[in-house]
Amino acid sequence: MLSTMMDVPLLLSRVVEYGASAYGTSEVITWTGGEPRRATYAEVGRRVAGLAHALRGLGIDADQRVATFMWNNQGHLEVYCAVPSMGAVLHTLNIRLFPDQLVYVANHAEDQVVVVDHTLVGLLAPLLDRMTTIRHVVVNGPADHSVLAGGGRTVHDYAELIAGMPEAFDWPVLDERSAAAMCYTSGTTGNPKGVVYSHRSNYLHSLTICMSGQLGLGPADRTLPVVPMFHANAWGVPYAALLSGSNLVMPDRFLQAEHLARMIATLQVTRSAAVPTIWTDLLAYLDTHPEADVSSLKDVLVGGSACPPSLIKAFEERFGVNVIHGWGMTETSPVGSVARPPAGLSAEDAWPYRVSQGRLLPGVEGRVIGPDGSEQPRDGQAVGELEVRGPWVAGAYYQDDDPAKFDDGWLRTGDVGSLTSDLYFTITDRAKDVIKSGGEWISSVDLENALMGHPAVLEASVVGVPDERWGERPLATVVIKEGRDVTVDQLREFLSDKVARWQVPERWAFVSTVPKTSVGKFDKKVIRRQYAEGGLDVITRPGPGASG
Ligand code: AMP
Repeated sequence: MLSTMMDVPLLLSRVVEYGASAYGTSEVITWTGGEPRRATYAEVGRRVAGLAHALRGLGIDADQRVATFMWNNQGHLEVYCAVPSMGAVLHTLNIRLFPDQLVYVANHAEDQVVVVDHTLVGLLAPLLDRMTTIRHVVVNGPADHSVLAGGGRTVHDYAELIAGMPEAFDWPVLDERSAAAMCYTSGTTGNPKGVVYSHRSNYLHSLTICMSGQLGLGPADRTLPVVPMFHANAWGVPYAALLSGSNLVMPDRFLQAEHLARMIATLQVTRSAAVPTIWTDLLAYLDTHPEADVSSLKDVLVGGSACPPSLIKAFEERFGVNVIHGWGMTETSPVGSVARPPAGLSAEDAWPYRVSQGRLLPGVEGRVIGPDGSEQPRDGQAVGELEVRGPWVAGAYYQDDDPAKFDDGWLRTGDVGSLTSDLYFTITDRAKDVIKSGGEWISSVDLENALMGHPAVLEASVVGVPDERWGERPLATVVIKEGRDVTVDQLREFLSDKVARWQVPERWAFVSTVPKTSVGKFDKKVIRRQYAEGGLDVITRPGPGASG
């Protein structure tokens, strides 16, 4: 029997219209370094309609791709809203990809238009001649257009393009399963792979993350997505803000701790989302700038790579900020789990839940597959690769039939860990980063978390390197905090009651910074290469065999 309910498609145009009407007075505030730029959601809604008309005027029709090369700001939000709503496909280019990868993804997606921030013109201009499908470049802000011209492209000024355009648009009624946006994965070897989100998947993902058990945004919030809109849709925050009425504070290019601290204080930011390195930097800044006031901040979501438990503790104890750990992937839209503990637990009992990667979101199913291909019990102990499926999980890549990532209707995440009966998931490692030492596995994440708990350590990354006797052994690269000092022997001693003795690394390198990927994660490929090429100053101590 079919239901008697209306068959209304879940479309992003509804999200935009809803935000602009129901929360017309909520604001998007863009940090400029000087006076912040403000616009209400009602104004944004009108400009979004104007932009859609302007893009139609440039010939954008059906599912053509419109790329962005932008920071998190009001203009980017407008493109985010206009392009899918009009039925075209938004492609957020990761400005930090290597030039060849950027050219590859723009050509692979067959982008027709690119909207670029004026401050990024210099980065994009040299690549445009190789981005062969781009016909129009739209510049957001004042810039020299001549460097973008050539190759049959037309260059437009964003403000001029939408000036005088109608302030309403008759949004098409689309199939909710049609493409709304695409994002390419980063950090993998080989070419990036395209994930294509649908209206339905983005709509459901946005609704779900608004829940109080998840990000819990509301109209009284001023939410600061530091995570870029080109990194897995800023974790869904922009659409979630429109649905929930949360104000948005957009950092633009000002991602340094000093600016973030000022943004938080000046604009009374209540929530934020970013990768751990951003919070590590902010914490170091706050330590040396006691005048900085982050008292408005309630909840921050940290994910993208494992959040050191010491970071969660430090923010809570010193600043009263609730750091919420979350896990996700470009392929999962991206939020897959959020580590809010079950209700009614003491702080001590809640702690293991809070440092886990979190409880799977409603709608995301998970299973752990052991090395023999069998599903492991959900007992929080048995370890294997996590596989997920759900309405906002990718079932394939765009024009790429790589079967390695998919297993009979499930996405293979490449993350190794365990699952509990109440669906909390703990990652011990990326499958490719697990260190296999003499037949035993060492979790690089456990070692990193333990090391980053040392008061003198700013950052620590651990990779497996070849070892004649054990096959592989851990190498720790450590960044020491400014003005602090620590020796290898002190760090080994510090680890001795935190991990099994045989897991304590004997290879160490002190570095000024841990190399990062385009989305701010530790770049373990680079560390392994530096080690192999003799580029690290390695200090060694006797291995586990010698020390017993
Ligand atoms: P990306 O598609 O760039 O967002 O990368 C997704 C990958 O980031 C996941 O498969 C994990 O390996 C890693 N990741 C994301 N969140 C976490 C987390 N909270 N803890 C550990 N790893 C994470």
